[in-house]
Amino acid sequence: MAWQGIEGHDEIAERFVAAHARGRVSGSYLFVGPPGVGKGTFALALAKSLTCERPQHGLVACGGCASCVQADAGSHPDIDVVRKPDDRSTIPLELLIGDDEHRMREGLCWRILLKPALGPRKVAVIMDADHFSEEAANCLLKTLEEPPDGAAIILVGTAIERQLPTIRSRCQVIRFAPLAADVVRRVLVREAAVAGTPGDAAALDRCCNAAGGSLTRARLLLDPEVTAFRSRLFDLLATRPLHGVDLSRETLAFVEAAGKEAPPRRARFRLVLDAALDVLRQASRRGVGFAGGDPALDRAAETWSVDIDATASAVDRTLDAADAIERNANLGMLVDAWSAVLEEPRLGRLR
Ligand SMILES: [Zn+2]
Repeated sequence: MAWQGIEGHDEIAERFVAAHARGRVSGSYLFVGPPGVGKGTFALALAKSLTCERPQHGLVACGGCASCVQADAGSHPDIDVVRKPDDRSTIPLELLIGDDEHRMREGLCWRILLKPALGPRKVAVIMDADHFSEEAANCLLKTLEEPPDGAAIILVGTAIERQLPTIRSRCQVIRFAPLAADVVRRVLVREAAVAGTPGDAAALDRCCNAAGGSLTRARLLLDPEVTAFRSRLFDLLATRPLHGVDLSRETLAFVEAAGKEAPPRRARFRLVLDAALDVLRQASRRGVGFAGGDPALDRAAETWSVDIDATASAVDRTLDAADAIERNANLGMLVDAWSAVLEEPRLGRLR
């Protein structure tokens, strides 16, 4: 099955279905898993079915009641969704407890204390839960520890290690795995059929295999311009000496071609870093005797596999760069710094 149309997470759905049947869905949950596998989509679907007036068998939202209609419109009074604004590096405190003038009279922690307006319960979803400031995290602790009767709070993050221990210990952790390539493929084929744009099968296979189990990444890879740059990036990374200046210039051109808005530009640089990580990790695998897979990737990896210490540093710095994207760093400077560090991975830290 695909619970409420969400592919790849049936086991998790079954746990919630069973808990719901026993009257046990409430409290604080922490969803973790790699980006683009459907954690946020799952959280929103769960919020909809938990507030539905006539949930169907298997905790499936009816889709037709007043509650479902408002959930679909994103205007449900009992479903509170908070996320990090694009131009901020952390979730602002006022989204949780109100601004200076309205402390604890506004914000998610206050709203969740109110009686449900429509359905049986209130549900709060906090996206981008990797990005709490310590102050915001502390404000949330009491709410997480003692959610009001029947209320559910769902935090959506990427890795358990990125949460403060105080938050971790107050939540039931639900782990989302990367999607299998055939699941990614099935979703893309369905989306292409809806859009009336069936692509060629070989290209689809390539993009599903390169997506690392992330649907978000797979959708971006469908763009031929993106796939072309991925190949070009493999060449740049395979060249010795590696030219940081070329890497920076070409990466920046690719990133800027996404348009003027910051989010698509960031998404493109994230793709570049993911592709670089694919190369570097393949190099590490080669180091312990595993070659093979995508030939272009493997060729680039071979160059790196001769110096496994440099490769390890390059992995760390690339992960740092990925973190800095989320913290809303200046992209131009970040691309430059990352490219420079890949030229000389032993030298440095990312600035
Ligand atoms: Zn409904």
